[in-house]
Amino acid sequence: KDTLLKIENLVTQYSSRRGILKAVDNVSLDVKRGEFVSIVGESGCGKSTLAFSVMRLILPPGKIVGGKIIFDGIDLLELSEEEMRKVRGKDIGMIFQDPMTSLDPLEKIGEQIAETIIEHEKMSKKEALEKASKLLESVGLPGDRIDYYPHQLSGGQRQRIMIALAVSMNPKLLIADEPTTALDVIVQEKIMDLLDELKKQGRAIMLITHDFSLAATRSDRIAVMYAGWLVEYGNARSVVDEPLHPYTRGLIESVPDVWIDREIKPMPGFPPDLVNPPEGCRFRPRCPHAMDKCSREPPTVEVDGRKVKCWLYV
Ligand code: SF4
Ligand code: MG
Repeated sequence: KDTLLKIENLVTQYSSRRGILKAVDNVSLDVKRGEFVSIVGESGCGKSTLAFSVMRLILPPGKIVGGKIIFDGIDLLELSEEEMRKVRGKDIGMIFQDPMTSLDPLEKIGEQIAETIIEHEKMSKKEALEKASKLLESVGLPGDRIDYYPHQLSGGQRQRIMIALAVSMNPKLLIADEPTTALDVIVQEKIMDLLDELKKQGRAIMLITHDFSLAATRSDRIAVMYAGWLVEYGNARSVVDEPLHPYTRGLIESVPDVWIDREIKPMPGFPPDLVNPPEGCRFRPRCPHAMDKCSREPPTVEVDGRKVKCWLYV
């Protein structure tokens, strides 16, 4: 399969009174057409900033200061704001953790979806409402929910509505930032099934999650981020079964595993302050394998088709 999204040496930073914080620091990553990629890491690792960078939705004091984001052959960072607006929604859809913040509480579901459809496609209101109703059915909701207001629906149903909105333009890539975090486990599984279904229809999915077990069951590939760095990226099964980076290993051992019965070992320490990150490897203060050369930044190397940023594999 060929590459749909290619992020190259992306740097996104925030300026604060305390200094510059590089939330995404020199990250390179590609997503193939129709591929399900999960970006995993603890909160503050830069995974959401990475997603928002791809959408070019970084607001001041945040700023993309370096790199390229090639989507379907075009560098999104070169587009005007107006051109980028067309890409958003039409080519790249996005869903967030809390659908309530993106839905208008005073407007019926159908009206909101129809508006979005009409924005991008020439059709009558009536046709758009019909399409909205079909879209709801395609995400597992009864079509008559177009006449409901957001507060009349459950959290899981609202997330389905957001997914319906995001896929209404048939985007090539769907970015989902913690889409199931606010939902209970059963609903969570159903939303994941839906994402899986959308993938099978040929869409690429980029799932942003702190939940390694969630990523493990559905993804083709998993990217692990730590303190603004991409520390490991490769085939999901290999990353889970045989993690290479010490951080990935720590992360997997600290969550209840889906495939192997293992004792849960909490990871010691905390992620670093990104305004003043540790010299050299940013995982060094927590790493059980740290050695002298880890006081220098490790390169990213390829091991069995996997990328890993660690001196152990150089
Ligand atoms: Fe640990 Fe060194 Fe690898 Fe960093 S580079 S993860 S400190 S072994
Ligand atoms: Mg986040």
